[in-house]
Amino acid sequence: MAAPAPALDPGNDPSFAELLAQRPQLTRHAHDGLVMEDVPLARIAEVVGTPTWVYSAGTLRRRARALRAALADAGLTATVHFATKANDNLSVLALLGREGLGADVVSEGELRGARAAGIPASAIVFSGVGKSEREIRLALAEGIMQINAESIEEIDMISAIAAGMGRIAPVAIRVNPDVDAKTHAKITTGRSENKFGVAYDDALTLYARMAKLPGIRPIGIATHIGSQITIGMGAYRAAYARLAELVRAIRAQGLPIERVDCGGGLGIAYRDEIAPAPAALAGAIKAELGALGLPVMLEPGRWIAGPAGVLLSRVILQKQGTARRFVVLDAAMNDLLRPAMYDSWHGILPVSPAALVAPLAPADVVGPVCESSDCFTRDRALPDLPPGALVALLDTGAYGATMSSTYNARPLAAEVLVDGARFAVVRDRQSYEALHAGQRVPEWLME
Ligand SMILES: *Cc1c(COP(=O)(O)O)cnc(C)c1O
Repeated sequence: MAAPAPALDPGNDPSFAELLAQRPQLTRHAHDGLVMEDVPLARIAEVVGTPTWVYSAGTLRRRARALRAALADAGLTATVHFATKANDNLSVLALLGREGLGADVVSEGELRGARAAGIPASAIVFSGVGKSEREIRLALAEGIMQINAESIEEIDMISAIAAGMGRIAPVAIRVNPDVDAKTHAKITTGRSENKFGVAYDDALTLYARMAKLPGIRPIGIATHIGSQITIGMGAYRAAYARLAELVRAIRAQGLPIERVDCGGGLGIAYRDEIAPAPAALAGAIKAELGALGLPVMLEPGRWIAGPAGVLLSRVILQKQGTARRFVVLDAAMNDLLRPAMYDSWHGILPVSPAALVAPLAPADVVGPVCESSDCFTRDRALPDLPPGALVALLDTGAYGATMSSTYNARPLAAEVLVDGARFAVVRDRQSYEALHAGQRVPEWLME
């Protein structure tokens, strides 16, 4: 069980001005209120309705470039593979693909999405603890760059499938380095008790075994120690030091190795966290792995897409309870699951110019879903938000739309991409017809 989140002191919440200062894609205009790049969010709400996910193309580009530049500046030969599960919108993937990013996928659906967005199979790595035979077959037929295997059972399965297809699968072993990334228990992946990867002590034996299998070309080792890592580079350094040691052991046995996959996990500042700069991560990779002279791969998701998105929502009503004020939004936990699942904190900005400077009082911000955990925040300092007022939930570009469900028969929200003064709907709001499509009631039930 995850330990309960420590109670947040609302006194530490950043002010609206502080939130805006850290997010250059969002500005406050005296007439238009909150504006993303050059598009007023109120205009998007008017045209597209709410709730709607809104992504800043400029932010996605800026962050993709910053990451690649940091790796290049450190003198590393590196490729960046966006973790598709953070945001699988085809326009987001297409934009990042055009920035030279590949993809990290964990399912057939993500592989198909990345390919449909124009990312070549030669830039896609397939991760995940349980790939089906069908998924492995498709990955090999597409000519995938790399499959990250997570167990001896999977290695044997991949070899058999590839041999049957007359192919050689490029496989890396995902190693569990048993380091503590010091992040939320639900997003820690690099401890020995987690389900991910093969035990460090077994990795060399498995690597040697791969080299003997007919359907496999062993090409490297991989790790991914967790997500939303903000506390220094210690955990990364520890994990990469272990990878370096393993590379040396692999080479000492005369086995080939072509690259090291350093995973994702770089954290962002949702509230007051100190988010590491990409240069710090590049420095950690350089320090621990640089001497090996191997190309490295990175699989960031949250760091690239998180700050690029907001969830735009309208207030349904303000309810004065006996002890607290509740602001009820038309967005809910089925749209943005992170607060309910990870106790996560998201900045909430009013959109109207007047509300951005109005007096503040504490409020709980909740959705209409019939669950007590459908609560985005408690005791947040917010202005009066009458019915119809708009708010933006910040930093929801990663693990936002991708974690949505239709719980309470609520259609999936629309998605919009803003690019300068232009915006486009990049995913329609789900219709009620689509919500029930595919369901049928057997005739015998209706007799
Ligand atoms: C989820 C995941 C990532 C991306 O994690 P972020 O915290 O979003 O950077 C990278 N690699 C693997 C294997 C993952 O499962």
